[in-house]
Amino acid sequence: MKASAFAYARATSIGNALELLAAHGDKAKLLSGGQSLMPMLAFRMLAPRVVVDIGRLDELKAIAFAADGLSLGALVRWCDIERSARIATEQPLLAEAVRHVAHYQIRNRGTVGGSLAHADPAAELPAIALLCDATIEVAGRHVRQISAADFFTGLLMTAISPDEVITGVRFPAWPAKRRWAFEEFSRRKGDFAMAGVALYYDEARDGTAIAPRIVGFGIGNTPMRLTKAEEVLRGSTVDPARLALDYAHDAVELAKHTQNRRLIAHAFVWSGLTYCNRFFDDPEAARPCYDQATALAKHDRADSAWEDLQMLKAKVLRAGSVHPTLRAWSQGATGEKTFQQISEEFAELIIPKVWEREGRKVSRVAARLSISPKKVRRILARVGRKIPPS
Ligand SMILES: Cc1cc2nc3c(=O)[nH]c(=O)nc-3n(C[C@H](O)[C@H](O)[C@H](O)COP(=O)(O)OP(=O)(O)OC[C@H]3O[C@@H](n4cnc5c(N)ncnc54)[C@H](O)[C@@H]3O)c2cc1C
Repeated sequence: MKASAFAYARATSIGNALELLAAHGDKAKLLSGGQSLMPMLAFRMLAPRVVVDIGRLDELKAIAFAADGLSLGALVRWCDIERSARIATEQPLLAEAVRHVAHYQIRNRGTVGGSLAHADPAAELPAIALLCDATIEVAGRHVRQISAADFFTGLLMTAISPDEVITGVRFPAWPAKRRWAFEEFSRRKGDFAMAGVALYYDEARDGTAIAPRIVGFGIGNTPMRLTKAEEVLRGSTVDPARLALDYAHDAVELAKHTQNRRLIAHAFVWSGLTYCNRFFDDPEAARPCYDQATALAKHDRADSAWEDLQMLKAKVLRAGSVHPTLRAWSQGATGEKTFQQISEEFAELIIPKVWEREGRKVSRVAARLSISPKKVRRILARVGRKIPPS
C-alpha cells in the first residue's frame, strides 16, 4: 500500500514547527526519525495533509549531563545513546533498555521524542521514563513539563495536543549503587517486546530494599507500575541468587501452561543460563535445562532463543570437560586439605590421563612429568589401574 498524498514542510526552528502545526491543526503530523510514522502512513493508518519535518533541528539533538540528571533532546537517536559511554555509566538502565530497541537500522534513525510521542505500549523508552520518573518537556503555546506518570494516557495516546512538540526528556540523577534489572521477551531479536519488565531499588545499610520501582511493558495499553510487586520488595532483603532461581523456575511453570513449545524452550534456556551465571556458576546443574530446551527447540533455528541456547550449550559442554574437583580448586574451594593432600589428589587426576595418552607406558609418564616410575606406579595402583608387568 502507498501513503495518501501529503504536503511536506521542513521546519527551520522549533518556533517555525509550532507555527506550521498551529496553521494546520490536527491535519499536520510531525516527522522525526520516521520509523513509526512512515509505516503508519504506508498502511494508511494516518493520512495527514501536511508532514512537518523537524528532523534537522540541531537544537533538539543535545545530550546534557548535570548533577541532577540527564537531559536528552527530542532528536537524540537510539544509536546516540548506545554510543555514549557516559550514559552507560550514569544511566545504566536506560542504556541497557535502548540495546533492546529494534534493529540497528532503526536505531540509527529512531528518536527519543518520536518514541515518547508514538507511545507504543511495548516500547522500552516509555517504560524507562515511567520507571525513572522522567519529565517530558513540551513546547506549544506554553512550555510544559509533564511527568512520565501523567504522559502516557492510553494506547498510542499521550497528554500532548496536536499543536505541541516534544523538545526533550529529563531523567533524574541515578545513584551509583542503585540495583536494577531489565528483561524482555520478544519473538525474534529486535522485535517489539511481547512483554518486559524493568526495576530498580536502592539498598539500606542492612541490605533491605528502599523505594523499589517496577514497571511492566507490553502488558497493557501503557507501561504500568507494578505496585503490588513493589510492596513485596519494599523493606525486604533481596537475595539475588534466590530470586533469580525462583523466577526462572516460575517462568518454566508458567510457560508450560501455554503449551507453546518455543516459549517453554526459552524458559528452560533462561533457567539454564541462571544456573550458569555468577551467583551459581554451576553449568552441571544447567545440563537438564539444556537437554529439555534442545529437545523442544530442535526445529526452531531462527528462533530468538536459538542464540541463547547456543550460549548455554557452550557453557554446559565446557563444564562437562572440567572435573568438578578442578573446578572447585579453581574457585579456591580447597576445604581443610593441606597442600600435600591437594598435590596427591591432583596426581590421581592427572597421572591416569597422561598414562593413557602415553600408550600406557609408565617410563614415558615418569619422563614426561619428571617424577619417579615408582610414584607413577603407586598412583596408578591407588586409582585401580592395572599396570602390565615391566
Ligand atoms: C520494524 C520495527 C521495529 C521496531 N522495534 C521497536 C522496539 O523494539 N522498541 C521501540 O521502542 N521501538 C521500536 N520501533 C519504533 C522505533 O523505535 C521508532 O523509531 C520510534 O518509536 C519513533 O521514533 P521516530 O523518531 O522514528 O518517530 P517518527 O516515526 O518520526 O514519529 C512517530 C510519531 O511521533 C510523532 N512525533 C515525532 N517526533 C515528535 C516530537 N518531537 N514531538 C511530538 N510528536 C512527535 C510523529 O508525528 C508520529 O506520530 C520499531 C520500528 C520498526 C519499524
